[in-house]
Amino acid sequence: MTAKMYYDNDADPAALAGKTVAIIGYGSQGHAHALNLHESGVDVVVGLAASSKSRALVEDAGIRVADVADAVRSADVVMILVPDTAQKAVYDTEIGPNLRPGALLMFAHGFNIHFNRIDPPAGIDVGMVAPKGPGHLLRSVYQAGGGVPALFAVYRDATGTARAKTLAYARAIGATRAGVLETTFAEETETDLFGEQSVLCGGTAALVKMAFETLVEAGYQPELAYFETLHELKLIVDLMYRGGLNFMRFSVSDTAEWGDYVSGPRIIDSHVRETMKQVLTEIQDGSFAARWITENEAGRPNFDRLRQQDHDHLVERVGASLRSQMAFLNPIEVKAGQAQASVGAPGGGSR
Ligand code: NAD
Ligand code: MG
Repeated sequence: MTAKMYYDNDADPAALAGKTVAIIGYGSQGHAHALNLHESGVDVVVGLAASSKSRALVEDAGIRVADVADAVRSADVVMILVPDTAQKAVYDTEIGPNLRPGALLMFAHGFNIHFNRIDPPAGIDVGMVAPKGPGHLLRSVYQAGGGVPALFAVYRDATGTARAKTLAYARAIGATRAGVLETTFAEETETDLFGEQSVLCGGTAALVKMAFETLVEAGYQPELAYFETLHELKLIVDLMYRGGLNFMRFSVSDTAEWGDYVSGPRIIDSHVRETMKQVLTEIQDGSFAARWITENEAGRPNFDRLRQQDHDHLVERVGASLRSQMAFLNPIEVKAGQAQASVGAPGGGSR
């Protein structure tokens, strides 16, 4: 281990003493940041559209709510927590023109700075705290006395205070209880996109679907295929989460471990490695970002089609039926067109 981890003792809360932090947006990350900061004693104002249904939730929590422009005008630190695809428009119209001189503009993901969608003026500090977990976890772990680890980065320190404020922010949301790691906007953005495309979302979803289809096409019962290729994945991931691949292999049978060694690399083979490298290149050279921005500007025709197509996949229909009888796993069904990141958070499903 060579990377330095920063913990509570490395982050001085005094950097935010007497400062006002504006949290823009109250979705998955927004509600967790606002509530954790507030309970850590930081002065918080949440900036929302006048019509936002989240306004009452913020007020019920004892936190001030204001229009985005007013929240920004009153703040020393502004954290943008609206969806990445919406950030440029909100920044251009309501945030940028109202930033106080010397303010610190913060992000939880580097996409818009790294791909030059948002270009704050020279006197504005720019920082990032990117929790490595969804908002509802950031909130519940904080409430239980722990923290979700995070990355932090300083893109520009015009005032000389950006780094201390960014670390104090990471501490106030609980992240330094678990440890934060310093990075750059480029590294965070590229690795985050690669991780979700290759393993966390894309690779895993494609692997599950392909294995499920292989069993069903060979004549096995879809319900059984569901248990083998999706349901049991959680048990395996939990083992890896606690003790890495070694603990997973320690816990499964020797037959399963042998099959892992001899068949795993045949399935995820050198073609997959070549494709991963290509996917990484397209992230690095900006072509993935350009395509996604164009898709949004066109009203998301391909995104909607692809979402609909997978929504009704057999693995989903079989899974929904089986999960409805397994109350212990707290099943949740996402309706067509409802899919959204913040299920489980206040305001979830409001988009
Ligand atoms: P989200 O989808 O939960 O939405 C955030 C809020 O923005 C909601 O209150 C929503 O009502 C509001 N909003 C939606 N569209 C808007 C628009 N056009 N204009 C103004 N407000 C709008 O977002 P999120 O998942 O919390 O993501 C926020 C930031 O956090 C992003 O930069 C994301 O990359 C980052 N992040 C997210 C996660 C995660 O697990 N969700 C983890 C780490 C970092
Ligand atoms: Mg991520």
